[in-house]
Amino acid sequence: SPSPAFNFAAGPARLPDAVLERARDELFTRGADGASALERPFTGDAFRATLAHARERLAELLALPSNYRILFLAGGALHQFSLVPMNLLGDARHAAYADSGYWSRRAMAEGARYADVTLAARHAGPVPLAAPPLGHWALPAGCAYCHITPNETVEGIAYPGLPDTGDVPLVADCTSCFLTGPVDVSRFGVLYASAQKNIGPAGLTVVVIREDLLERPAPRVPAPHCYRLQAEHDSCVNTPPTWAIHVAGLVFDWIADAGGLAAMAAANRRKAERLYAAIDGSEGFYAAPVATGHRSGSNVRFHLADDRLTDTFLAEAEAHGLTHLRGHRQVGGLRASLYNAMPEAGAAALADFIAGFARRHG
Ligand code: PMP
Repeated sequence: SPSPAFNFAAGPARLPDAVLERARDELFTRGADGASALERPFTGDAFRATLAHARERLAELLALPSNYRILFLAGGALHQFSLVPMNLLGDARHAAYADSGYWSRRAMAEGARYADVTLAARHAGPVPLAAPPLGHWALPAGCAYCHITPNETVEGIAYPGLPDTGDVPLVADCTSCFLTGPVDVSRFGVLYASAQKNIGPAGLTVVVIREDLLERPAPRVPAPHCYRLQAEHDSCVNTPPTWAIHVAGLVFDWIADAGGLAAMAAANRRKAERLYAAIDGSEGFYAAPVATGHRSGSNVRFHLADDRLTDTFLAEAEAHGLTHLRGHRQVGGLRASLYNAMPEAGAAALADFIAGFARRHG
């Protein structure tokens, strides 16, 4: 049975226990065709049914409007940093990017290899950290899209709302917030998320795209990277990551059984509030660098006032079965990632440990 330790890694991250158990059983069960879920041809009926199930379940969870399509693509979010301009620029030269932190800047740097990039907005920084100011963003004429990162995994910053980009399609890297709560898909042209935080195993990326945006691919975009071709072939232009899609379908079932995205949001809010309360209640022993209202519920970032205690904190936490709490190498400190599969008991155990460590070392 799964280890009682709680893994707070930013990704690949914990999967729900029920999903691990179903995946284990299905891994070792061969059907009448002599194949398990890991062994089936992607062209056969059994895998096509798995794919359709994952697509339909996800569409239900997202309350997907009928003019949107779901693609299951090989690769990570970093691939999308290039595939977005390759598929969406069309005849345009300009694309806009908001700078909210590390991943948005990586996206912008890739975009700049294909487009004239305009900075749409930037986060107020330095401390307290916050998302870029919202409201109306002035974008250049003929701008193909505006890219945002609604949850910055490294800094632990979450947008409190969405900007108004007028007719310019909003493209969002939702890698670290996908399926953590209800989302109004109609506000976006494209949403994408790599799988290894809230969807399933690494190697898969989900792209949700408004149909009219499928008409713009660059002439030389490689076939498996062409959104239009993948939409036409139900994500099977070539062999898709079949096992990752299978497990993603199990995760979507688990979310639906637990009450859907509203239930995820409620549980995630309780988990994050517990941690932030422990940090804020420590009388300065710990600090959270992100402004209230902009703090991520997925990636809780904090640090010790006395940074020399960080390694002791990590070692003692590990001894308590609370693992992978080191902050991203770009920013240091500590980070607890609380994706959907982190049980409330995990957040509670970490909150207790945070308070206890402060008492012992304060
Ligand atoms: N964007 C965000 C917001 C991320 O958190 C990550 C990974 N942590 C990436 C992009 C890169 O994703 P991948 O490694 O799947 O390419």
